[in-house]
Amino acid sequence: MKFSAQTDRGRVRPSNEDAYCLEVLDEGAERALLAVADGMGGHAAGEVASALAIATLRERVLAQALRWNGDDERLQGLGEAIVAAHAAILAAQGEDPRRAGMGTTLTAVLIWGEYLYIGHTGDSRAYLVGAEGGIRQLTDDHSVVGELVRGGSLTELEAMQHPQRHLLTSALGTQGRLRVDLQATLWHPGDVVILCSDGLTNLVTAAEIAERVRLIAVDQFDSLARELVDLANSRGGHDNITVVAARRGEEVRA
Ligand code: MG
Repeated sequence: MKFSAQTDRGRVRPSNEDAYCLEVLDEGAERALLAVADGMGGHAAGEVASALAIATLRERVLAQALRWNGDDERLQGLGEAIVAAHAAILAAQGEDPRRAGMGTTLTAVLIWGEYLYIGHTGDSRAYLVGAEGGIRQLTDDHSVVGELVRGGSLTELEAMQHPQRHLLTSALGTQGRLRVDLQATLWHPGDVVILCSDGLTNLVTAAEIAERVRLIAVDQFDSLARELVDLANSRGGHDNITVVAARRGEEVRA
């Protein structure tokens, strides 16, 4: 497997409230944990929320994943780790009134040989770019605008410009109903999975992401995330930008 990861403050925001993890669990068996979190809340609380979400997820998955057997246990374990991250953020809110409104998106992919286990809440995204070049968005955006796109009343390009694109319908740390989507999918040799925050997807289309993946040489794969971040920054970089990617190798010994 090959990996690439980058997080960037962008060109406008004073700080970076995104966080990510890229953790190789077992290189020989092609097992890894990838995640992106996009925090929100004043007084730097967004940074606290995204860091806490990633730390909680990472700790849980690293401690438990090798004991999970089969699709159901891996999906359930990943879902429980995301709910634990939600609980950790709610607890931290109670300890400090300046953190009362903090929250974060969380998109996580547990790579397990030929399987991807995906857990998700919010509007960060996971994409799968096929070895033949097609791109599929694996996650639904939990946002008002995302629902309009799924309903067919907005296009991808209209959603990227929409003034209410930041309104989320689910996120960790918020008081309303938490929606955690879980799914398993196969990926194939040469496929690329990409996780990213909306600082990328509000400025770069899915087709453009697929094009960058298609053009990058396999031995240059680690520069993919930097290239995508640079593209978003060249278009204004008005939000924090995070990209984490993995490319499945030609052989899996899992
Ligand atoms: Mg963002």
